[in-house]
Amino acid sequence: MARFSLELDEDQLEIQAWVHGFARDVIRPVGHEWDEREETPWPVIEDAAEVGLYSLEFVSHIFADPAGLLVPVVMEELAWGDAGIALAMLGTTLPVTAILAGGTREQVEEWLPRCFRDDDGKPAVAAFAVSEADAGSDVSSLRTRAVYHEATDEWELNGAKTWATNGGIAGVHVVVASVDPDLGPRGQASFVVPPGTPGLSQGQVFKKMGIRASHTAEVVLYRCRVPGRCLLGGKERLDERLNRVREGRTSGRSQAAMATFEASRPAVGAQALGVARAAYERALEYARQRRQFGRAIIENQAVAFKLADMKTLIDASRLLVWRAAWMSSQHKRFESGEGSMSKLFAGETAVKVTDEAIQILGGAGYVRDEPVERWHRDAKIFTIFEGTSEIQRLVIARAITGLHIR
Ligand SMILES: Cc1cc2nc3c(=O)[nH]c(=O)nc-3n(C[C@H](O)[C@H](O)[C@H](O)COP(=O)(O)OP(=O)(O)OC[C@H]3O[C@@H](n4cnc5c(N)ncnc54)[C@H](O)[C@@H]3O)c2cc1C
Repeated sequence: MARFSLELDEDQLEIQAWVHGFARDVIRPVGHEWDEREETPWPVIEDAAEVGLYSLEFVSHIFADPAGLLVPVVMEELAWGDAGIALAMLGTTLPVTAILAGGTREQVEEWLPRCFRDDDGKPAVAAFAVSEADAGSDVSSLRTRAVYHEATDEWELNGAKTWATNGGIAGVHVVVASVDPDLGPRGQASFVVPPGTPGLSQGQVFKKMGIRASHTAEVVLYRCRVPGRCLLGGKERLDERLNRVREGRTSGRSQAAMATFEASRPAVGAQALGVARAAYERALEYARQRRQFGRAIIENQAVAFKLADMKTLIDASRLLVWRAAWMSSQHKRFESGEGSMSKLFAGETAVKVTDEAIQILGGAGYVRDEPVERWHRDAKIFTIFEGTSEIQRLVIARAITGLHIR
């Protein structure tokens, strides 16, 4: 039996087809509308919840795929439908990943269901708030503080987060804060802020260039108190870790935020891939139909070669994304920054491919009624969030050289 295969198995193919159908029939037709409305598409999330696509059970199923491919496969399909709507749903998977990565079994059981449903059983979204005004790429310089009050067994959070996807509209917020500023990034920890906690409020809501169906806002934490059990991993584990760092017994990469981002990079790359594929398919279809100088424009090498390059970039992106996702599932270390490679390449591919798609459509590609215009605006985010392209290159460069490249 061949030991290597790039073919999806039956379960994977079935889920891919099911998610594709939802993306085609439910998401794609309303992509333009929610982009214009610049609001969270709750009716679509409700539909997805109703069919079981937006649910803890489904996310647990795809996370549990032994080959690791179901996560990128599902994300590619959803983003193929519409990246903004996809992110409105997939934004929840980031705090879910943080809870899975850092939480105890009890915390996973308590908080994961509440990321997807509120106490009345209605669909809810969750948020992961790391970035701050002065701590974007440099997450080591977070200023948000968490202080423990032993008498009440509570943590008090104070600070201002920015750019949080679903920030302020989420039920569960996972917030990364410093518990010991002297230890820099190694003095950070993640906290669950339960739904409705006083002291957490929404600040500015950002009006964005793309992915406009996804809500992005500041999150202000002022005397925001959460029970001791909301510290992910628990106090004992935190104290042990901090003691190890103070005594110089570990230099391990314990940054709470970085662990989450590393795990989620291939998934973000997969979303970029979905946008790129959508634009490529549209451009291919258009180039076949559009006639100039008495022939279809696809018959010009200048156009056909663009499509050849687009397809090549897309396929190469998928290979990088699948490799990184597979490596994660096998608990293989990203020795050469493979997770970053996948996000870097797929993100830049999405920008390039959507740009070329507009070029192939000419004037028709430059108007708001035409999806490639939106897809190009959407694509740009993939070179910015969850680590900019420069930061991905930094991670790869450090991994391959072993040097502290700046
Ligand atoms: C729509 C959207 C959604 C987001 N969602 C979330 C979220 O849910 N949770 C969250 O915590 N954050 C979120 N973010 C924040 C996002 O992760 C940051 O915007 C990103 O990490 C970049 O940080 P910055 O914007 O502060 O840019 P900066 O860090 O200020 O970077 C500016 C420029 O400098 C470059 N640069 C910085 N440092 C270096 C370096 N050492 N070497 C080379 N170049 C460098 C960058 O690559 C970039 O080109 C979101 C952002 C957006 C726009």
